[in-house]
Amino acid sequence: MINNKTYDVVIVGSGISGAVMAKTLTQAGKTVLLLEAGLTAGISLDRNGDYQNYVDYLNTFYIASAKVPNSPYPNIKDAPSIDVLDMQPISGPNSPSTSGYLVQAGPLPFASDCLRGPGGTTLHWLGSTPRMLPNDFKMKTLYGQGVDWPISYEDLMPYYEMAELEIGVSGNVNDIHWPEASNKQEQVELTNKFYGKDYVFPMEEIPTSYIDGVFTKLVAEVNTKNPVKVSGKDTKIKFSTTPQGRNSVPNKQYPYRDITWDSKTKKLVLQKDKYWCPETKEVVDSPLDEKYEYLPVGATWDPNTGQRCEGNASCVPICPVQAKYNALKTLYKSDRHKITIKTQSVASRILYDEKTGQVTGVEYKTYHTADSITYDTNIAKGKIYVLAASAIENAKILLASNAANSSDQVGRNLMDHLCLLTWGLLPEKGFPFRGPGSTTNMSSFRDGDFRKEHAAWICPIDNWGWGWPVFSPGSDLSNALAKNMFGKELRDQLADTLPKQLLLHYECEQLPEPDNRVTIDPAYRDQIGNYRPVIHYDASDYMKKAFETAKNINNQLFKATGTQDFTFYSPTLTADYVGYQEQGYNFWGAGHIVGTHRMGASKKDSVVNKDSRTWDHDNLYLVGCGNMPTLGTSNPTLTMTALTFKAAEAILKQLEK
Ligand SMILES: Cc1cc2nc3c(=O)[nH]c(=O)nc-3n(C[C@H](O)[C@H](O)[C@H](O)COP(=O)(O)OP(=O)(O)OC[C@H]3O[C@@H](n4cnc5c(N)ncnc54)[C@H](O)[C@@H]3O)c2cc1C
Ligand code: SF4
Repeated sequence: MINNKTYDVVIVGSGISGAVMAKTLTQAGKTVLLLEAGLTAGISLDRNGDYQNYVDYLNTFYIASAKVPNSPYPNIKDAPSIDVLDMQPISGPNSPSTSGYLVQAGPLPFASDCLRGPGGTTLHWLGSTPRMLPNDFKMKTLYGQGVDWPISYEDLMPYYEMAELEIGVSGNVNDIHWPEASNKQEQVELTNKFYGKDYVFPMEEIPTSYIDGVFTKLVAEVNTKNPVKVSGKDTKIKFSTTPQGRNSVPNKQYPYRDITWDSKTKKLVLQKDKYWCPETKEVVDSPLDEKYEYLPVGATWDPNTGQRCEGNASCVPICPVQAKYNALKTLYKSDRHKITIKTQSVASRILYDEKTGQVTGVEYKTYHTADSITYDTNIAKGKIYVLAASAIENAKILLASNAANSSDQVGRNLMDHLCLLTWGLLPEKGFPFRGPGSTTNMSSFRDGDFRKEHAAWICPIDNWGWGWPVFSPGSDLSNALAKNMFGKELRDQLADTLPKQLLLHYECEQLPEPDNRVTIDPAYRDQIGNYRPVIHYDASDYMKKAFETAKNINNQLFKATGTQDFTFYSPTLTADYVGYQEQGYNFWGAGHIVGTHRMGASKKDSVVNKDSRTWDHDNLYLVGCGNMPTLGTSNPTLTMTALTFKAAEAILKQLEK
């Protein structure tokens, strides 16, 4: 069946990249068709429907035995999600693990998941939003590793500011430590240079969690009395507070009100005294007597709920009050008269003219009810097409269409942060589980000359006990019961140990490697005939050496702070177990799925240009973390959102040529 209407833009996916696109384009007066693979119930733009749906997610979460990232959300057979619970060891080169949606060809299983459903993965993300460091954009030039980006940090600065407004970032720029700064003066100079003098985030910093204070105080003593040694040198460990997409108190100094399209200059503009008015559908001046203050965006179903974080640490997988940003908040701001949303509609391939390269349509399959085997096939038509289906799905759709791949880079360079976890009991109570998942990170090893030899890392102080590696607090209870403890003895045991649980995770930067990749294989399809992604994945020595160095630093820190180490690594702990220099290490995925359609300066070795437009198809843009040529040590979504604003600006320019 062909739907004859031609929209200005067809967007595939309603995660943050698709939602930012839809909101920006519709507010600029363009018509948008948004195709979303997930269930209709998840995207209701009417408040009651949305409320009930979110309550259903919460109820599913409360009764789930394994509270993994996707546990609150439906996993439907017509548009399956990747799920960490499906991860299994791979037995040999020709024996892929096929237990979940991914076909894991190995040698190691890819360890992260994402959510295919309305709002996408931001429904279960943590919400940490640090910017990348300026040096992250020049890895090849500075360290001889990976590739350089076709743009610099400075090019991205205005778009970072847009992303911080859209997500609603809480934080304090003066608490962000620059690894290269050797004194306070340099620290201030770098902050002024890379954020702009007097820059503030929309909201004040979320108060750091109690456990951060306990651990950083212990480390400060170590820095003074007995600093850790790295390559034989005394090294002081520095911490930063983490900017984050969750609501705190508005910062009264924050000047920006909205992001609007200026068709005269053909630019997106951060407005101080104008905003896009949903009633008149125009950019209007703020009344002269109106004193502007940033308004935290609450729950989509009730703007008065979720205006402040309530601090109970269930951000992953679900924030009960929606104080944490999710993409539905952005989608909700689209011009309703300009957007058409088709849910339960799974894009399967794009169609294009072989001679001109122009994309002529997106084929999609609309399934009738969850898990039904019946569906209709349609073609969506637009002047411009945007794939925003996440790094793995974007690559898969392109491969299924034999599109945008003249460089042979589609699907390659798949990256994630490989997380080395360490856990111990603090010498005093730190009371984890109060506050967001993490509010402070160890930032000393985010950059430095060592990147020539091994990966850089950021190390958040986690606030959820030992839950991630060993399923605390449930495992603490079962261990105590196994020792026949009960009554007061059991209560004392739990009360003494749980509040002392410290978890650190060293998020190591994976480099782009062509053989870490997404491919397709006609032998592997889902129940409505779409390809399942086949993943080839491994960890290089560059990563393993980082594990060795990080663990060494961690051992010194645990010893010097009196933290009793309970860390162990074993092939039975996770399927991602690697050996290096006679030691074994487990790593965990960070959910940072990056790099499968990278941006570059030349069509020979990249898929999109610096505006996220494919080199091979003038009217096809790709958005999402797949564009990132390297990963740095920042959680990637803020950077990807900045790139999405840049792409939206380019699309508006192209439409108004
Ligand atoms: C546990 C976890 C914690 C995380 N924490 C952080 C963090 O703290 N900070 C950070 O920066 N990042 C974090 N991330 C990563 C972050 O969530 C993602 O980078 C981001 O949400 C990706 O947004 P996206 O719009 O590109 O893709 P997604 O959010 O994955 O959205 C893709 C959309 O496309 C739809 N779709 C997929 N296939 C199709 C198809 N064929 N047809 C139609 N629609 C389709 C999906 O249903 C979905 O709506 C985390 C990830 C995980 C898993
Ligand atoms: S700590 Fe609680 S209220 Fe705050 S963002 Fe996380 S889940 Fe939401």
